[in-house]
Amino acid sequence: MKRRTRKAVILVVCTVVIAALPVAGSLYYTHEQALDASQKHLDDVAVRAAQRAWTVLLTVEAALADSVFPARNGCNEALIRHFRDRTFSLPTVQGLGYVTDDGRLACTSYGIVDPPRPVRLEPTIQPDGSIVRFLPPAETAFAPGPTIIALHRLRDGSWLGAAFAPESLTNGFEPASLGDHGYLRVVLAGVPMATIGEPHPSAPDFLDARADVGVYQAEVLVGAGRAWALAPWRRNALVTAGVGAAAGLALAFGAAHLGRKRLSLSAELSEGLENREFEVWYQPIIDLQQDRCRGAEALIRWRHPERDLVPPDLFIALAEESGVIIPMTRWLMREVGRQMGPLLATDPSLHIGVNLAPAHVASLDIVEDARRIASEFGIRPHQILFELTERGLIDQPECREVIEELSRLGTELAIDDFGTGYSSLAYIEKFKLDYLKIDKVFVAAIGHAAPLAKLTQVVIDMAKSLGLKTIAEGVETEAQARYLRDQGVNYAQGYVFSRPLVADDFRVFVRSDREFGLAGAVAQQHLALGAAPDVA
Ligand code: C2E
Ligand code: CA
Ligand code: CA
Repeated sequence: MKRRTRKAVILVVCTVVIAALPVAGSLYYTHEQALDASQKHLDDVAVRAAQRAWTVLLTVEAALADSVFPARNGCNEALIRHFRDRTFSLPTVQGLGYVTDDGRLACTSYGIVDPPRPVRLEPTIQPDGSIVRFLPPAETAFAPGPTIIALHRLRDGSWLGAAFAPESLTNGFEPASLGDHGYLRVVLAGVPMATIGEPHPSAPDFLDARADVGVYQAEVLVGAGRAWALAPWRRNALVTAGVGAAAGLALAFGAAHLGRKRLSLSAELSEGLENREFEVWYQPIIDLQQDRCRGAEALIRWRHPERDLVPPDLFIALAEESGVIIPMTRWLMREVGRQMGPLLATDPSLHIGVNLAPAHVASLDIVEDARRIASEFGIRPHQILFELTERGLIDQPECREVIEELSRLGTELAIDDFGTGYSSLAYIEKFKLDYLKIDKVFVAAIGHAAPLAKLTQVVIDMAKSLGLKTIAEGVETEAQARYLRDQGVNYAQGYVFSRPLVADDFRVFVRSDREFGLAGAVAQQHLALGAAPDVA
């Protein structure tokens, strides 16, 4: 080969290689991205399916718990009426029945079974953390297809049973959306209870995901084949080959930028705390049965020098991650003491709710902080109501110890955002709680035909069966307040009564409530806010 030709060939090869490098790179990158996206999608399906399954299990458990009292005298008209009512109002429950201690079905939602019919009670599955046992899917008289029976043993040895369809555990999920060998399976204590789709008979899943159904010792497994996982990548390979490189670059740049911003934001948090940039706002909590303000929830706000008022949703997670939440809550409690101490001292019926993060129940510091602040500002410990989400209610010795010590000190404890975690009744019963805060999604569902509205009722009944006082959150309409009052819910908090207020305005709210009644306080506060719009 002549020298010039050789040079030309090298040049062409180099150009091709250099041109191909970003293309190959971006193809590889988008391939990984497609896998990543498919994995995320599967993870997301597993989490949503776990939520769905949890809702079903909790509904069934609550329907059984709710029937214990009506079943105290065995089968009679009242029990059958109760069974019917629950079967009718909870779409998940196909039927309820009473089984005598010698294993005979004596009555169901459909009436008396005459003569009582022997029924299968084995082999039962009893997941840890559940008071209910389950019989795996089988043909029963309750429904055309196989049903799962949930069993609750009564003190005298008889049983309550509730039938539900295995499909209710997987409803709303479309196996076809996961390709040829996509599937979703709900497993309870190791026993498969429901499956949709078909796993490949011999090949292992190309991608899979799993999620725990809370404390039910249940899990959701999801799997999918290679063709499904890579389908979007194949479709777009040509286009993404070019664009991918640029997008990858932008993404990397964006991620780096975001990382830096997050880092600096957490530094800003500690700085903000030192520079006294935080404020405490108070959202009134109303006694629904007596139409009286009974206190407030303390909500933190950040008056950022450049960003104005930052709502907590934007920084609490970061404060938790970085540990700043501990000094931040200590500061908040002192501020509550300083601002509300005198009012709390003159009116012992007022409570202030303080939000705790999971990190708080890992150490006894919070008990010491509460003790110190209560004594310094003359607050009775029972006037402090700590709010802890189900996320923070972990079955570990440290958490139990902190909760016990707080209760010994005399502060009260609420489970916050109830219904959005995965706790079962048996789990919640393990902790000494005073209040249950019904999350706003359930309040928003009131008056709607959605299944969630039924769940609202279940959540209220559940709180009653646990003997806990209830606080409904996010009450925005008169109709919601009326419904909750009629259902015997004790307290409520929400925009229909008042938005979160600065300390002075909250004190005015309490004074108007005492002088003119709740309606007067609400009207005055709405008027005042008309003049000074609130960002909370
Ligand atoms: P959360 O504990 O569930 O607090 C109730 C949230 O609902 C508050 O939002 C409140 O402003 C809002 N809200 C009240 N009434 C209504 C209503 O009628 N409708 C609607 N749509 N929303 C209503 P905020 O103040 O933005 O707080 C958000 C979350 O930030 C709180 O949720 C809580 O989890 C967290 N948080 C706030 N302050 C603190 C704090 O001091 N410490 C900790 N650890 N978390 C805090
Ligand atoms: Ca709260
Ligand atoms: Ca809440």
